[in-house]
Amino acid sequence: MTLALTRAERTARDLAYLDDTEFGARLLASTPVHAGRDHGLLREWAAAAAAFGTSLPAAPPVTARVVERDGGLALGMLARYRSRPATVELYTDAIAAAEELVDRLGWRALFPRGCVRTAALAHEAVHERLHHGPGKAELKRALGHVVLSFGGRQVYGYVAGADEIAAHACAARTAGLGRSPLLLAEALSAIAAPPGAEAAGQPRDRRGRRRR
Ligand SMILES: [Zn+2]
Repeated sequence: MTLALTRAERTARDLAYLDDTEFGARLLASTPVHAGRDHGLLREWAAAAAAFGTSLPAAPPVTARVVERDGGLALGMLARYRSRPATVELYTDAIAAAEELVDRLGWRALFPRGCVRTAALAHEAVHERLHHGPGKAELKRALGHVVLSFGGRQVYGYVAGADEIAAHACAARTAGLGRSPLLLAEALSAIAAPPGAEAAGQPRDRRGRRRR
């Protein structure tokens, strides 16, 4: 069965032609601290962060309290980790919308049914791990962003956004995804705010509804 896709859905579907490293580089590029950095370097960091995330144990245990709620579509989020107190918030409305979009775009082979919730939980568990354990320093070393060298020792700098990419990569492995969850996240954004909508005088809110 072929579904008639809207223009925004076709734009979202065509995102699959880009590789996962590109989505990681775009995520880094959207972080103000990386403005003006060479795209090739951002791709290198994105690839290193993803390799680090893939090397982490799959199915990381979630020790934080898990709370299910809606409101994710308004926030543009599937899940969120809060450290005080340690809580993972799963946004059921956004997770359902993501599952629906996978069906619309014919991406079931890449994103198995129910995988969005599994991936979101694994993603937040990586944040928890990086927040509390030695993972933060290990990730810095893996990225190799040297900010200082002295006496044969090197000091590695923090690369903002790299933890996000690592979390997505670990989540992809845990949930058995064929592509990075970043592809799905970008597709959801494309649907919520189709390119040109504002330019055409049709401003939309974050759910993609036209503003009145
Ligand atoms: Zn995250």
